[in-house]
Amino acid sequence: MPTRSGYDAVIVGGGHNGLVAAAYLAQAGRSVLVLERLGRTGGAAVSTQTFSGVQARLSRYSYLVSLLPHKIIDELGLRFAVRRRRISSYTPTVRGGRPTGLLVDAGDPTRTAAAFHQLTGSEREFEAWQRFYAMTGAVAERVFPSLTEPLPTRAELRRRVADPAAWEALFERPLGESVERHFTDDLVRGVVLTDALIGTFTHAHDPSLRQNRCFLYHVIGGGTGDWDVPVGGMGALTDALADAARAAGAQILTGCEVTAVATDGTAAEVTYRSGDEEHRVGARQVLCNAAPQTLARLLGERPDPAAAPEGSQLKVNMLLRRLPRLRDTSVDPREAFAGTFHVAESYRELESAYRQAADGRVPVAAPSEIYCHSLTDPSILGPELAARGYQTLTLFGLHLPARLFTAGGTDTGDAVRQAALQAVLGPLDALLAEPLADCLALDDQGRPCIEAKSPLDLERELGLPGGNIFHRDLSFPFRDGTDGDNHGDSHGGDHGGDRGGSAADRWGVATAHPNVLLCGAGATRGGGVSGIPGHNAAMAVLGR
Ligand SMILES: Cc1cc2nc3c(=O)[nH]c(=O)nc-3n(C[C@H](O)[C@H](O)[C@H](O)COP(=O)(O)OP(=O)(O)OC[C@H]3O[C@@H](n4cnc5c(N)ncnc54)[C@H](O)[C@@H]3O)c2cc1C
Repeated sequence: MPTRSGYDAVIVGGGHNGLVAAAYLAQAGRSVLVLERLGRTGGAAVSTQTFSGVQARLSRYSYLVSLLPHKIIDELGLRFAVRRRRISSYTPTVRGGRPTGLLVDAGDPTRTAAAFHQLTGSEREFEAWQRFYAMTGAVAERVFPSLTEPLPTRAELRRRVADPAAWEALFERPLGESVERHFTDDLVRGVVLTDALIGTFTHAHDPSLRQNRCFLYHVIGGGTGDWDVPVGGMGALTDALADAARAAGAQILTGCEVTAVATDGTAAEVTYRSGDEEHRVGARQVLCNAAPQTLARLLGERPDPAAAPEGSQLKVNMLLRRLPRLRDTSVDPREAFAGTFHVAESYRELESAYRQAADGRVPVAAPSEIYCHSLTDPSILGPELAARGYQTLTLFGLHLPARLFTAGGTDTGDAVRQAALQAVLGPLDALLAEPLADCLALDDQGRPCIEAKSPLDLERELGLPGGNIFHRDLSFPFRDGTDGDNHGDSHGGDHGGDRGGSAADRWGVATAHPNVLLCGAGATRGGGVSGIPGHNAAMAVLGR
């Protein structure tokens, strides 16, 4: 039960961003109540023992960290660390009838150059790669620090980027144009484009620039764009955040679903359900960690159905007895699976899968990215499994939008989920020297350790509208006084582009209600495991 009848801030949702906001506000001396619908905190940033009787704690949903600023870790005093992956990526393919692949070794440019040369037959693609990522790296260095500062205008951010060609390529023109200008090899083009398609149903030339926004968030993290391994799994971050929030005095209640938020602009009342009981609590300010569409419902507003968020992915979690052998014998599986292992992600394959899904079909070969956490951080395995050489495997499938899993608004159930699983595992098996199924561990009931989560599963389990992993389309990290909201949709009392002058406007967390703020992925500069919108909402409340 809450210990007070009213709080300075009530936070709807105990995802990692809600916990960041709670920790900052409590450390600043504010009274804070977090109400979380599930029986645990963390939202999509959790570790679970996924398979019955098997001592492996998998990052069940999100799995790699790039966007979490050191500033937040330091300021909140979190006991949490990430580890760099030596191998950035490996992309197997077949050239001239022979299995081969492209290994990008972040620690060894000479080796990477040789891999490009072997695949493409010249220096050209690797030089283009270096030029392209030098460009995104320079943008990252300048843009990333701005994410935890008041929201710049478009003109201010453009000045800060200080590279008109880079601005044009990333913020103004469909990403496909610069990918095609820089690169000629179909596989290399595809590897670059994948970062624009994570959880986002779009294509290289989408005029809405949805792909550019997704790409930007995948290349600016930490000012480098590196994606690091959370030591102890993603749940280690959530646990550290919950500890920090509680230690500072925040109250966190799980199993409490908020059902309504009423506000007159200066004081609010939050209604929530705990078991069979309904409760009310007062708040000077309400911070919403749930998606903007959920907030709209809680406020009694009617979101525009045409702008409903939609996720586009299949997340597959696996535990293996051993890593599978590859058809490309020039690469050790321990290297191939340590970085991002790209499957069916050439430029043409990405386009073809997009077209099939847009036509309402599960793609024959759904593109996917795979990665093994336990190679970099075995601490998520129990000692016995680690000693026996077991490994985890995470697969993130693209171009599998929520619409494929529904018919007339209802879940089509297991048949389509099985078809989607086959669409990602089939192309993977074609690259392996032995079927993946032969490598899967078994749980204590003798069942293979594999589970698949469609967008509909994510909606049901995590409350993500449409299964959208970012709560809604990602936004460009600026306020845009002329073009309006830069998310491309409008939900949750959206302020239409953060034009005003309140603290919430300045931090990109405003809604139409002065004392109701977004503190989750749906805020401007939200999305991903970053803590940034939680930090920014707290700064707005504190009037910084
Ligand atoms: C499968 C998957 C893979 C991903 N992979 C990555 C990755 O590797 N790296 C990365 O950076 N990002 C990744 N993401 C995205 C990232 O996880 C999310 O964008 C991020 O976790 C959002 O955090 P949040 O705290 O804003 O919201 P959430 O994690 O969605 O938390 C919101 C919380 O609010 C609660 N809630 C909702 N409604 C109510 C209510 N009415 N009352 C009370 N509580 C409520 C929910 O239960 C939830 O706990 C992934 C996401 C998914 C789903």
